[in-house]
Amino acid sequence: MLVEGAVFDIDGPRPAYVRFRRGRVVEVGTPGTDSTRGRLRKVRGIVVPAPVNGHTHLGDAVSVREPPKGPVEELVAPPSGYKFQLLANAGRAEKLAAMRAALTAMARDGVAATLDFREEGIAGVELFREALRGIPIRGFAFGRPVRRPVDREELDRLLVAAEGVGLSSARDEEEATRRTIAQACRLRGKRFGLHASEAVREPPESYLDPTPDLLVHLTKATPDDLVAVQGEGVAVAVCPRSNALFGRQPDLRTMERLGLHLLLGTDNAMFHPPSLWSELQFAYTSSRLLDRPASAVFLARGALVEPWVWLGEAEAARIAPGSPASPLVLRLPPEDPAYQLATRVTEQVIVRVGTPPPRPRR
Ligand SMILES: [Zn+2]
Repeated sequence: MLVEGAVFDIDGPRPAYVRFRRGRVVEVGTPGTDSTRGRLRKVRGIVVPAPVNGHTHLGDAVSVREPPKGPVEELVAPPSGYKFQLLANAGRAEKLAAMRAALTAMARDGVAATLDFREEGIAGVELFREALRGIPIRGFAFGRPVRRPVDREELDRLLVAAEGVGLSSARDEEEATRRTIAQACRLRGKRFGLHASEAVREPPESYLDPTPDLLVHLTKATPDDLVAVQGEGVAVAVCPRSNALFGRQPDLRTMERLGLHLLLGTDNAMFHPPSLWSELQFAYTSSRLLDRPASAVFLARGALVEPWVWLGEAEAARIAPGSPASPLVLRLPPEDPAYQLATRVTEQVIVRVGTPPPRPRR
């Protein structure tokens, strides 16, 4: 297949053609200069690296109802908030089916990987692994040890099962707990992430020391706080739809101005389906609504490029012959490609060049 139009990857948006053979990129160049001399079917569109969902809680897909009234910190507070009651009251099979349905929907959207903050300790991580079986998505599990004070044995076993630890927030945990967990993650080459300044502003020193690999939200962070985050080189995952449901937004414009490493995530699956394209559209449009516009390029990078860089797999975000990327072809107008990505992508415009998407299970 030959796609003529544009490429959007780690090197930015540009006019290009891309030739595929068996789902892999074999040739990239300036439109009109391909080697096929008209022998191949041409598709007009945009070629992108497969997106990565930078922050999910897929376990909560067991609920799809409008959340009850009240502040989000009460709804999702461990160990007894609404969300934890839902998880505790749902059976294993029910949670597994809900996670599999969510992952299947993500795969149909072309998502290649997800960074999931998985509750419920080691059993929660194991359930997530089981849910991923047979679905072409790489699941990165950020588990949460449940015992306090931290039980070394539980933490060690969790770090064998998971890619890292994802905590509720700095203010929900003792400093000693955060230090023990962060240090254990470092020692084992695992990642340490936590939610920060979501409902109320927290002082940056509380979530930057010990230094995490990933912060989530920062909706209440001041520009100075964001400067501190940038100074430590810590990546930030933002979830604008989830935040908007509770009346707040991340300052995407300042994040862009400071050059923060931004990942886009869909957050709690009980609030929204894990559609990264919807998240991207909302992020773009809401930033303009607030008169704090962030560019389409910056936001699209948060779905397609920055997560690969964060994972240490930057080459997967490059559309080039021999690259490990598993690209998507989007049947969209190739003019102004970043704008198309931020406004027009749906499952229906995705053309498969590699493996077919899984069938929906329910
Ligand atoms: Zn979260």
